[in-house]
Amino acid sequence: MNIHEYQAKALLRAEGLPILKGEVAFSVNEAESAWDKLNAPLVAVKAQIHAGGRGAGHFLHDKNAKGGVRLCRSKQEVKENAESMLGKTLITKQTGKNGRNVQRIYIEEGGDIERELYFSLLLDRQSASIIVIASASGGIDIEEVAQTNPQLIHKTKISSSGYSPYQARKIAFALNLPNLKNFSLLLQKLIHVFQRLDASLLEINPLVVQPDGQLLIMDAKMTFDDNALFRQPEVEKLRDEQEEEPAEREANEVGLNYIKLDGSIACMVNGAGLAMATMDIVQNFGGSPANFLDVGGGADKERVETAFRIILKDKVVKAILVNIFGGIMRCDVIAQGIVAAAGKLKLHVPLIVRLQGTNFEQGKQILANSELNIITAETLADAAQKAVNAAKEK
Ligand code: GDP
Ligand code: MN
Repeated sequence: MNIHEYQAKALLRAEGLPILKGEVAFSVNEAESAWDKLNAPLVAVKAQIHAGGRGAGHFLHDKNAKGGVRLCRSKQEVKENAESMLGKTLITKQTGKNGRNVQRIYIEEGGDIERELYFSLLLDRQSASIIVIASASGGIDIEEVAQTNPQLIHKTKISSSGYSPYQARKIAFALNLPNLKNFSLLLQKLIHVFQRLDASLLEINPLVVQPDGQLLIMDAKMTFDDNALFRQPEVEKLRDEQEEEPAEREANEVGLNYIKLDGSIACMVNGAGLAMATMDIVQNFGGSPANFLDVGGGADKERVETAFRIILKDKVVKAILVNIFGGIMRCDVIAQGIVAAAGKLKLHVPLIVRLQGTNFEQGKQILANSELNIITAETLADAAQKAVNAAKEK
């Protein structure tokens, strides 16, 4: 799960990290009161969307080509910029061409910048540790630096028991930071909040060095492990459903594990491992999956129906591949769910079904007895090939 910059900053501020004062605004009025409240000579007005690259982005249908981060020196300027951002579509390198609608803006005190650094913590599953990524060439062009000058980006692995002082020194040296104590404290706090909140990413770009040498967190992006949200109520309540893929949200509500992809063959599978294998084998036969969908071990008729509804809403789907291995879940129950859902939802694409395991014979019988035009398959390879062919013919 992702959260907005202003929410991430509130979490970090609570940890005692250096962040300037700011106010979120949902309307032009609120933006104006934020100016009054902050009482600063300079503020940054920042579009809040779950995507980066706002500073260098642009608004749809806006000729003056200003981005999603703007400096303002008066209440009037704040008003005008709030008006030209709220409710408008911001397009950045990370949003795709459709952009994102800006529903909230963040008004923050302006800070002085001497240097902009890149700094992030990332959960590395392979080594079960946190990786610190840091670069003295931070700011809005970090992606370009990563491509053209990867040697300017420093990676440090932090073990789960904490970091060694020498590691902090090494990073501080790479960033050319003279005040080691300051930096060490910052690193320690960031690691602490990262672990405490089950984050998977904490990105600060830029981490600013101010003219007086103090460090300042000027931008913050945080991503959290969905599987840990049950024990992070503080994080869970920061969810902004507006920013989430509607189909993924609907799936999430009924306990389906669904991730939208950009291929044309929809997959409906039980078990995450089997779902991955199914996607691989579809690829192997020259097709591309339209989604990852794990209906889970205890799927019932209703869940199967919801899964179908979500899949059928996706206009690029050209075939549906159902691959179920009946264990605790019985194939006859699934078959009933498929028949009920397909009947109700007016299936307009070929449906390929492979059932194996508990009660698979009854399941096949149910499918055969239905009026539906279902292509059945014996093995996973057979099913995948049939799905790829059906999608091609469509
Ligand atoms: P992003 O483009 O989505 O990553 O948004 P950022 O929050 O990183 O802002 C982009 C750039 O705007 C930063 O790299 C800064 O150079 C600049 N910026 C943001 N806030 C301020 C501020 O308060 N004062 C000044 N002087 N510049 C700012
Ligand atoms: Mn940034």
